[in-house]
Amino acid sequence: MTQYVAAIDQGTTSTRCMIFNHSGRVVSSDQVEHEQIFPKAGWVEHNAEEIWENARRVAAGALAKADLTTADIVAVGITNQRETAVVWDKSTGKPVYNAIVWQDTRTDKICDRLGDLGGGQERYRGKTGLPLATYFSGPKVAWILENVEGAREKAEAGELLFGNMDTWVLWNMTGGVDGGVHVTDPTNASRTLLMDLDTLSWDAEIAKEMGIPLSMLPEIRSSSEEYGKVRERGALAGVPIAGILGDQQAATFGQACLSPGEAKNTYGTGNFVLLNTGTEKVLSENGLLTTVCYKIGDNAPVYALEGSIAVTGSLVQWLRDNLGLISTAAEVEEFAKTVEDNGGAYIVPAFSGLFAPYWRSDARGALVGLTRYVNKGHIARAVLEATAFQSREVIEAMNADSGVPLTSLKVDGGMVVNETLMQFQADILGVPVIRPVVNETTALGAAYAAGLATGFWASEDDIRENWAQDKQWEPSMDDKTRDREYRNWKKAVTKTFDWTE
Ligand code: ADP
Repeated sequence: MTQYVAAIDQGTTSTRCMIFNHSGRVVSSDQVEHEQIFPKAGWVEHNAEEIWENARRVAAGALAKADLTTADIVAVGITNQRETAVVWDKSTGKPVYNAIVWQDTRTDKICDRLGDLGGGQERYRGKTGLPLATYFSGPKVAWILENVEGAREKAEAGELLFGNMDTWVLWNMTGGVDGGVHVTDPTNASRTLLMDLDTLSWDAEIAKEMGIPLSMLPEIRSSSEEYGKVRERGALAGVPIAGILGDQQAATFGQACLSPGEAKNTYGTGNFVLLNTGTEKVLSENGLLTTVCYKIGDNAPVYALEGSIAVTGSLVQWLRDNLGLISTAAEVEEFAKTVEDNGGAYIVPAFSGLFAPYWRSDARGALVGLTRYVNKGHIARAVLEATAFQSREVIEAMNADSGVPLTSLKVDGGMVVNETLMQFQADILGVPVIRPVVNETTALGAAYAAGLATGFWASEDDIRENWAQDKQWEPSMDDKTRDREYRNWKKAVTKTFDWTE
C-alpha cells in the first residue's frame, strides 16, 4: 500500500494541509485563509481558535481531495508562522487574548525598557542570537501578562500556557484540555528571546526580566521525533505527530540546504534568507539573526544565520487591499511589465519598522523619487523591486558575516511565480536565482522532519535526492545600472527613519 506524510502549515495568512508521497511530491493540498485583525496602527492579531478550527478543516479537506483515508498517512509534521504568540487557559483551552502576530510592533516600549537594564538592543544577543526587537515572542507574552486583566495572577498560579502556533496546534491536536502535549521545538523556541542557543533550554534569568513564569513555557524537544498522536476523532486520528519546524527553517530543510554554506530565500508575506552554518553558531556583526536551523532527534543542532524582512508579499497585498490599484496579486506583474524600469520611484515598505539588517522600530514606509512621469506601472515595478532590494541587503550582510559570497540563490514561496521579480532579483544580486520543482518547501520540510522520525524516509540523503530544479534566471543587468539602482535604494531607506514621534 502506498503511504504518505501530511504537513499542517499554519502560515501568516492561511492554514494549509499538504500531503506528500515518498518522492516529496505534492499529492493534495487544502487551504483556508484567516482574518487579519488590525486594531490599531502597528498592531496585528489573529484569532487562535479560528486558526485551530481551520487546521482541522484543511486536514480533512486534503485527505478528501486525494481520496485518501487516515490509514494512508504514516506521520504528520507541523510548520508555522514563527514568533506569533498565544496564551491560553489550560483548564478551558480558551486563549486569554488574540494571538499577537510577529509583525506587531506594540511591544516597542517593553523592548526599550528591557534594553535600558543595560546593553540596549544587544542585551540578549550573546545568549539568544537575537537583537531585542518587537518581532520576537517573549515581549509579546510580557505584554499580555501586563495588559490582560487577571492574566498575571493566573500565570503565576500555573493556570496559563504559552505557545507559538506550532505548540497551539499540537496541544489541540493531541487532546487539548484532555491531555494535550505542551511541547515546542528548538527552531520555534529560538525565536522567543527566551532560549539559550547553546543549551537549547529556557533561560530563567531572561524569563524573570520579562516577568514570564517558566511554568507557562512548553517543553523544548527536537524538531524530528514523535511528540504524541492525533487525539481527534476525525481526520488523522491516531497518526503520530513527529515533526515541528518553524516555517523558514522548514523551507530551508525542504530546499535541501543541509550542508554548511547552503542558503535559500523564501518570498511570502515577508522574505527570509537562511544560511546553514552547520553545528557552528555564528553570531552576526551585520544585523542578522542566529537561529536554530533544525535538530533531528538526538543529533547535534544545526544553526543558521537569518536575514528576516518583514514586508515583501504583503506590500503586494497592500497595493490590492488598501489602495485597490490591482485586483489580484498576479496583476502586479502585468502592470510592472508595461514599463521598462521603475521610472525613478522607490518604495520602502517599513510597515513594521525595518527588520534585518537595520532593526529600527522607528522606521515607517516611504514612496520616494516621484515625478509627474511616474505611472501605475512604475509603482507596480517599485513594489516588486522592493522585495529584491531588501533581499540583496540581507545577502550582503550574510556574505560579510560568513566571509563566503553566495554564488547562487535557491528561492521558494508565493511570490516566486512572478518571473519579472525573479529576473530582477538575479539582476540586482548579480548571481543566478534557482526555483525548485516543489515550491511548497515549507510544508515539505515539515513532512520530511516527520517522515524521518518515523522511518518513512531513511536519511537526509533521500531529501537531497528528491530536490529537483524547475527554472534558473541568469543576471543580465550591466554593473553600472545595478550599482546606481542599489545606491538609490539605499538612499530611499534613509528616508524612513525617525517617524514614530
Ligand atoms: P505566507 O506563507 O507568508 O502566507 P505565501 O508563500 O503563500 O505566504 O505567499 C503569499 C504572498 O505572495 C502574498 O503576500 C501575495 O501578495 C504574494 N503573491 C502571490 N502571488 C503573487 C504574484 N504573482 N506576484 C507577486 N506577489 C504574489
